[in-house]
Amino acid sequence: MNLSYWETKTWLTNIDFTIVGSGIVGLNCALQLKQRFPKSKILILEKGILPQGASTKNAGFACFGSLSEIIDDLQSHSKEEVLELIKKRINGLQILRENLGDKTIDYQNLGGYELFLELDKTLYDTCKSEQSAINKLLFPIYNANVFLFKDNDFGFKNIKSDYCFNPFEGQIDTGKMMSALLKKVQSLGIKILNNITVESYAEDVNAVTIKTNQFELKSKNLCIATNGFARHLNLEKVQPARAQVLITKPIDNLHIKGTFHLDQGYYYFRNIDNRVLLGGGRHLDFKTEETTVFAQTEIIQNKLEDLLKTTILPTTNFEIDYRWSGIMGVGKQKNPIVQQLSNHVFCGVRLGGMGIAIGSLVGKELADLA
Ligand SMILES: Cc1cc2nc3c(=O)[nH]c(=O)nc-3n(C[C@H](O)[C@H](O)[C@H](O)COP(=O)(O)OP(=O)(O)OC[C@H]3O[C@@H](n4cnc5c(N)ncnc54)[C@H](O)[C@@H]3O)c2cc1C
Repeated sequence: MNLSYWETKTWLTNIDFTIVGSGIVGLNCALQLKQRFPKSKILILEKGILPQGASTKNAGFACFGSLSEIIDDLQSHSKEEVLELIKKRINGLQILRENLGDKTIDYQNLGGYELFLELDKTLYDTCKSEQSAINKLLFPIYNANVFLFKDNDFGFKNIKSDYCFNPFEGQIDTGKMMSALLKKVQSLGIKILNNITVESYAEDVNAVTIKTNQFELKSKNLCIATNGFARHLNLEKVQPARAQVLITKPIDNLHIKGTFHLDQGYYYFRNIDNRVLLGGGRHLDFKTEETTVFAQTEIIQNKLEDLLKTTILPTTNFEIDYRWSGIMGVGKQKNPIVQQLSNHVFCGVRLGGMGIAIGSLVGKELADLA
């Protein structure tokens, strides 16, 4: 791209911080940097016309972990690590709500439910037998018993007659959250350039040279917030994980309210605008879904539709309105990677399926490293 003197001077010169990625992490990183260094010049480079990863594609669950997820996490993480992760989610969500306001993001504390498939006796029995031990473990954080079992009064089919309820879980309007975050960042004079892909970078003593698909620029510091796409900039510990979603057209008198986890969280659904949003099914075809390519597949979309018909809305007519996918960043460990990579380069990536809860905190922590 042949840039003018004015373009170069105004947008691409004397940059203190360049952030790659305008998802929840990149935007929160920018906000925190501006707070720490009010006079600094901050630039965000984003490859999509909108944020184009997970932050505008997700299900909007403001959650901390279902009972089966916490039991499962305790198999591969220590008690301390699991508690630390839950505290991070609570903290992160608090920052998000304080930063933007509950009304703006349409935060609603409708509670969360874990449903157990009729055939999955083992998981159901394990959750029932571990319920009180996990409640005890979490008591110091919540000052209450988090998980209790309730009768299935939403009329779901093919599931056990009771489900596990968590009154602390909430939901937000993802679009409203991201729109408000973008507005806040831009109101502080932080520039966002869309349709710019960062291809590589090289560091010398005082600065980082950043090569994009359109131009090269120098920046004093570089913060990488590209999550599921992190491998493109050589962050090998992050695997991409595509997640597919669909949403129904509005349904008259929709009786389902809350956030729902089914089959160990492999499926998740919620109400929004009198519709049901349903996602998941990655485990049906893990290998194909380990990709940064946005797409829907028949195997997963058919299963999601089947679940709506047989389990979630067995007696209600519905039509599918939209289908889409998003790209998450996952890894062997659940905790995010917030790290200084070299003198002037930092990253905040691998948020898994919990970016709404931890994204604001990870962005802040990333900025605090710089
Ligand atoms: C379908 C789905 C449902 C989900 N549901 C929930 C949920 O209910 N609750 C929850 O807490 N979490 C959920 N998540 C996870 C959550 O959305 C993510 O953890 C979170 O959005 C990650 O934010 P991020 O800013 O790290 O990454 P992203 O939002 O992916 O942002 C990274 C940005 O970097 C840009 N980028 C990447 N590479 C480059 C490059 N080389 N140059 C320039 N720009 C680049 C991308 O375009 C993208 O906009 C879900 C995710 C998906 C996909």
